[in-house]
Amino acid sequence: MDIFKPLDLSSDTQKPSIESTEKVRCLIIGSGPAGYTAAIYSARANLKPVLYTGLQMGGQLTTTTEVENYPGYPDGVTGPAMMEDLKKQAERFGTEVRFGIATKVDFSGKTHKVIIDEEKVVEADAVIIATGATARYLGLEAESKYSGMGVSACATCDGFFYKGKDVAVVGGGDTAAEEATYLAGLCRKVYLVVRRNVLRASKAMQDRVLHTPNIEVLWEHQAIDLFGENGVEGVVLVKHKGTPQEEIVKVMIDGFFLAIGHTPNSDVFKDFLETNEAGYIITIPGTSKTNIPGIFAAGDIQDPVYRQAVTAAGSGCMAAIDAERYLTEKSNQNENI
Ligand code: FAD
Ligand code: NAP
Repeated sequence: MDIFKPLDLSSDTQKPSIESTEKVRCLIIGSGPAGYTAAIYSARANLKPVLYTGLQMGGQLTTTTEVENYPGYPDGVTGPAMMEDLKKQAERFGTEVRFGIATKVDFSGKTHKVIIDEEKVVEADAVIIATGATARYLGLEAESKYSGMGVSACATCDGFFYKGKDVAVVGGGDTAAEEATYLAGLCRKVYLVVRRNVLRASKAMQDRVLHTPNIEVLWEHQAIDLFGENGVEGVVLVKHKGTPQEEIVKVMIDGFFLAIGHTPNSDVFKDFLETNEAGYIITIPGTSKTNIPGIFAAGDIQDPVYRQAVTAAGSGCMAAIDAERYLTEKSNQNENI
């Protein structure tokens, strides 16, 4: 299903019916650590939040096994179990968690309208957007086959599991350079697989990569497959693709890290909210406030830098506090009119 398919409001058949309109005080879009944390705080502040989960109930962490760096779990926890705990905690204080996707929004009026599943209109005084960002993959069948068995899109999250082992990082930007350097501190050897003969990363990051003895850059290489019995044991690469020197090479590795960028899930909001070049929603520094009063953004959707569960949760807390203060101010103004 194309979750960002535009809704044609000019066509009568697609116009949401009045009966399907509902008014809520605080609407939260997204069920990752940012969304659920915003829900816990806003429910405890009596904002009676309604949260729509989107297609991926529980967010990105439901696609991983062990989470070892989230505070409060001394023995680690699986991603799905942690997200179930967060959901229960949000519900305990009265959050209404619903399955549904925000397919269109209208933030032009006094109340903010969000259309769910192309048919139901939810009007909200405050909206917290926590729709996350999705790591890009190469699209190889092997990436799904070895998901959680040697393939990862997050070195900070999973690097520890490859201590003393050999890994490959795909990409040539700042993220790839940063992840390769981080992994070089943990792993025996890091291959940086770069499709061109230059790195896109900043000069400083390039220098770091090129001066780290256990990083080897594989210039003009592209990954085309992975192999291994019970997990990744190696990668198949094509070298100098499309030239007379084209050659297939195999490199033995234990972990395969993708660092070819993330796509923030912001398409549906772009007509109203300011985003940066890459599509991340811009918030006023130090807050969760967007360019529209009453609309707040939390988690990876507004964070191109840290992208961790704990930072997402922290910003979800900020968004709930910002929303609560906004609503209090608004009701004080209404009383004074
Ligand atoms: P997400 O978790 O991405 O959740 C976004 C939510 O928005 C989802 O529920 C989705 O369904 C919903 N959504 C999207 N679009 C719509 C829409 N139109 N309408 C309604 N809902 C929508 N971080 C760590 O700190 N430690 C780790 O060990 C760790 N491991 C990771 C392993 C993997 C494989 C990956 C991919 C990431 C990992 N991360 C880890 C990063 C962490 O998962 C993210 O930083 C965090 O989940 C971001 O939280 P979020 O709430 O901003 O968004
Ligand atoms: P990016 O700058 O878009 O780089 C993506 C890299 O992946 C590029 O090198 C690209 O190759 C490569 N790539 C894309 N698709 C590929 C494919 N199918 N196969 C092989 N390689 C592929 O993304 P990013 O590195 O995530 O950075 C995003 C933004 O965040 C940038 O603005 C960056 O500066 C910033 N950032 C900054 C820091 C920092 O300053 N510390 C850290 C991380 C990110 P090509 O070069 O050939 O296109």
